[in-house]
Amino acid sequence: MSILDNRPSLKAEIDKVAEVAGYLWIKGWAERNGGNITINITEWVDEEMKTLPAISEPRAIGTVLPHLRGCWFYCKGTQKRMRDLARDPMGSGSIIRILPDCAHYEMVADAPVAPTSELPSHLSVHNYLLAKSSPYRASLHTHPIELVALTHSKKWLEKDAATRMLWSMIPETKAFCPRGLGMVPYMLPSSVGLADATIRAIDEDYDVVMWEKHGVFAVDTDIMSAFDQVDVLNKAAQIYISARNMGFEPEGMTDAQMKELSDVFGLPK
Ligand SMILES: [Zn+2]
Repeated sequence: MSILDNRPSLKAEIDKVAEVAGYLWIKGWAERNGGNITINITEWVDEEMKTLPAISEPRAIGTVLPHLRGCWFYCKGTQKRMRDLARDPMGSGSIIRILPDCAHYEMVADAPVAPTSELPSHLSVHNYLLAKSSPYRASLHTHPIELVALTHSKKWLEKDAATRMLWSMIPETKAFCPRGLGMVPYMLPSSVGLADATIRAIDEDYDVVMWEKHGVFAVDTDIMSAFDQVDVLNKAAQIYISARNMGFEPEGMTDAQMKELSDVFGLPK
């Protein structure tokens, strides 16, 4: 028995997580246990599910997140591999609910798989999104090779330098990642400072935030859309690198061509 049995809409969301986890592995972005996914699944929790007993003791989140009262999440498990999650999302992840104190959570299904060590930072982002009444329900952290490589050069760490270059490689990049790529300077993984800087970058209106010499953190309505934004940006980075490998600096689309694209497709300024 799984909590997903007879809950087709919840199962559909978790199936998307499994599908994306498989893509992350195939793309080479999810070595070992690299990367994390958390999904706010509250809207798919029915009344019967709310009465299910916990399968763990309450655990402290480590911070108080008032907008998560009554919320439920699917979280990748700590030390779990994306390639395993792709086959068995409830064996490499778990469903948790936030307790009324907004400072603790408990696991509800299917197995007591302890959530990622990044849970406090992921939940802090979800708390921020709910506070802003954002429709975004998914957060993704992964290690896209070419985007991470870019951050090893100071040139691309300057605000919106990478965004402008990536947008200019192929028109779809700006169309499908219209808010660009935020940049967060190197900070210790899992640190409070990194989580705070990520939220500040999302607050500046980025959906995808680059962590220098580490990876991306992306948010969107669902996990497939978050993955698509990262995929589109990384594709643009690959085109840039391919041109450099052919021995020249790519021209990029002109400012006039990019402006025309924004005007015709009504993209955010
Ligand atoms: Zn990482």
